[in-house]
Amino acid sequence: MRYISTRGNMLPKSFSEIMLSGLASDGGLAMPETYPKISNSELETWRKLNYADLAFKVLSKFADDSPVADLRGIIDRTYTPEIFHSEEITPLKTLEPGLHILGLSNGPTLAFKDIAMQFLGNLFEYVLAKTGEELNILGATSGDTGPSAEYAMRGKSGIRVFMLSPKGKMTRFQTAQMFSLQDPNIFNIAIRGVFDDCQDIVKTVSNDSQFKKKYHIGTVNSINWARIAAQIVYYFKGYFAATHSNNQQVSFSVPSGNFGNVCAGHVAFMMGLPIKKLILATNENDVLNEFFSTGCYRPRTAEETQHTSSPSMDISKASNFERFIFDLAGRNAEKVRELWQEVDNGRAFDISSTPLWQKIRRSHVISGTSNHVARMETIRKMHKKYGVLVDTHTADGLKVGLEHREKDVPLICLETALPAKFSESIVEAVGSEPSRPAGYDNLESLPQRYVVMNADTTAIKTFISEHI
Ligand SMILES: *Cc1c(COP(=O)(O)O)cnc(C)c1O
Repeated sequence: MRYISTRGNMLPKSFSEIMLSGLASDGGLAMPETYPKISNSELETWRKLNYADLAFKVLSKFADDSPVADLRGIIDRTYTPEIFHSEEITPLKTLEPGLHILGLSNGPTLAFKDIAMQFLGNLFEYVLAKTGEELNILGATSGDTGPSAEYAMRGKSGIRVFMLSPKGKMTRFQTAQMFSLQDPNIFNIAIRGVFDDCQDIVKTVSNDSQFKKKYHIGTVNSINWARIAAQIVYYFKGYFAATHSNNQQVSFSVPSGNFGNVCAGHVAFMMGLPIKKLILATNENDVLNEFFSTGCYRPRTAEETQHTSSPSMDISKASNFERFIFDLAGRNAEKVRELWQEVDNGRAFDISSTPLWQKIRRSHVISGTSNHVARMETIRKMHKKYGVLVDTHTADGLKVGLEHREKDVPLICLETALPAKFSESIVEAVGSEPSRPAGYDNLESLPQRYVVMNADTTAIKTFISEHI
């Protein structure tokens, strides 16, 4: 499998070559040259596999340049009941016939990002050990990505994590998740400022190619192809768990922000998984729903981006969306360059009068939006009707998914976090605290390890260079 860029100006590369990188050299995103097509008989065999075996089948289609035994070992170390707290790894909960929740949030940080990030941690460690190189991950987080990256990279040799977060702006639970880590390769830097200050520092440092090269700076943001690839697996797993035969179609509802999760579903569809619809759900920051309703893609500014009760979906621009447009435009890189010329300059694009829009309207992706009131209502309704407690993001997915539910098409709603992470909103919705999984009871009272710094790029660079 070779990888090309959505902007068309990168020589084809191998999985190993694109795996550690963010943006492609031409500013685009890496994509497989063609999608592997899964035959019916292959699908039949896959139906019987456990999660790790299935992950190996799927991932070896995309990561075909590392020795097979090594990939197998990386996967076997990642998808274990010890890390994901169940034999199924992503257990399916049936609310009523034809309505399911796929549990993706049973990893160490109680959010679905662990599924890909835990894999990435083991993959990076393996590759770095082979080349003898080191990687210093610099990131900015407003809540979920930071913990997920730190729990995946903690204790890994050859890797350090420098994670910037806005001081005092995350929930106590999220803060404690990160700051309680005592591993010497994890550096928590609380910035006197807001999330955008943190992100600006990461951008500035990433644009300093000399510093980046000298100190082996990398990122683990959601445009990384290996993350997308690891997320394809649970679409297959969820499909098999909710159906009896490969003649059936299902739909998935996906709480969305950066279009990473739904992009993995799109790839599963392209590989031949019988998906009827991918139902994309946004919160008040409805950039994507606006596009799928009007054909106009209008990224927002930081000021226009609202702070909501499903905060991990508070995005102004959906970075992985470019991958979907590339495919739907018939892999026309010139078209993508033309459209993203606008986006990269902070402008909108409107394709509503083009054949591309007609194609997207008839495609497998549809959308809807949710808001605080609907979110609270959905949490209450799910609790009352089915006795399940869902978090605020999953609630947005359920709300929109149910609006688009079709008779005789099973609906699988992806659970992207556990309610324990967002207890304030749960108390508001149902009047009581959500229960916590074992081992998290005293999280907030554990000793914390972090430094506080000003939003000063030079100072951050000095800190990094002194701790490498
Ligand atoms: C990251 C995140 C999302 C959004 O996922 P994307 O892949 O960015 O679309 C939704 N819910 C939760 C809980 C998340 O952490």
